Amino acid sequence: MVRALALHEDVLVVVSAIWRTTATIVRGGEEAFVIDSPLLPEEIELLPALLEQSAFPFSGLLATHGDWDHLLGRLAFPGAALGVAETTAARLRAAPGEAQRQLRDFDEAHYLQRPSPLALGSLEPLPVPGYCGLGEHELELHPADGHTSDGMAVWIPWASILVCGDYLSPVEIPTPEGSIDGYLATLARLEALVERAAHVVPGHGDPLEAGAAHAILLEDRAYLQALRAHGADAPLPAGRRDGEQRRLHAANAARLSAAAGP
Ligand SMILES: [Zn+2]
Repeated sequence: MVRALALHEDVLVVVSAIWRTTATIVRGGEEAFVIDSPLLPEEIELLPALLEQSAFPFSGLLATHGDWDHLLGRLAFPGAALGVAETTAARLRAAPGEAQRQLRDFDEAHYLQRPSPLALGSLEPLPVPGYCGLGEHELELHPADGHTSDGMAVWIPWASILVCGDYLSPVEIPTPEGSIDGYLATLARLEALVERAAHVVPGHGDPLEAGAAHAILLEDRAYLQALRAHGADAPLPAGRRDGEQRRLHAANAARLSAAAGP
């Protein structure tokens, strides 16, 4: 069973049952892109039918960043072009097979079976900042590094929807695997877009109204500033303090002290 939310006549969002990973389906005239991907085999398998039933004519895939859990669109649409930021294309080329290995580990850990292995094939590197044509419209691509060293946020101007990748999540604290400075700079760029947005689609968690997304942005900025100043003693954002979030926080603090050196 796939939950698909209609945020706009041209925008559908699927939220995976696991990790609440989102896929955003955006239509521009006679074309439609799928941005990121759900995780479970049956969720991926149902994507082509969902697009067909909703009259969203599939034309290509985009991924907000190179983490494997956002790259599974090819399992639903084999052979489709996968557009990514130039930074993401460089990251994936530098570590060939890594996404496939991580997917295999995940599937083994959860005893999941998939009808076919993941082939990322040829990537289409997109200049970011920049634009990407979709039918009669254009998507705006904004740099979004800091969570990882790569990535982009996608602004859908005609729907006032921001698809931001792994930022502004209502379910997950910031994980600045790239850099805290980069993460904070991305939050500053996203803030200007959130202020114009009707909805924000985070990489993990349900789509947000702009006001709720802005509240998360302020919490995330405060958390990162506290993390930088106080390491493991930084307080976690309210509502994101359970065991898994404390585990992510401990990893953030450990990464920070490792970067500071002995
Ligand atoms: Zn993710």
